[in-house]
Amino acid sequence: MPKERITLPSHLTDWIDRRLPDVGGISNVKLFRCYKIPFEWLARSNEKPSAVTICNRIYFQASLGSFDDPPPEMLAVLFHELTHVIQFKRHPVLHLPLYAWYLLRKGYWDSPMEIEAREAEAKLVDEYLRDYKG
Ligand SMILES: [Zn+2]
Repeated sequence: MPKERITLPSHLTDWIDRRLPDVGGISNVKLFRCYKIPFEWLARSNEKPSAVTICNRIYFQASLGSFDDPPPEMLAVLFHELTHVIQFKRHPVLHLPLYAWYLLRKGYWDSPMEIEAREAEAKLVDEYLRDYKG
């Protein structure tokens, strides 16, 4: 799996550390861009994920683009995945089995963990854009 580390712009990492202390410091989260993200094959072909979070590692689809000056769609993916990092920190041991269980029982869209991540992503993009774009 060819992958490269992503470095976020410092104003973005500062904002994340201020706004999302539960992440435990964005410097402790490893971000990668890759041409094939882990577990991609689990998804149906019409809903290929643009990123996957495993513990404190986030794998972004390379096709998503660069994080140098990220558009709202990329911020949404980033904040969504950071919510999964926070969920992982809540239940480090149970996170993956719990995630898989919800996925099987309720499906991707109705999984409580995905609902939480979607709600957080929308809220955080709004807040971030308000803070930085006026
Ligand atoms: Zn998700």
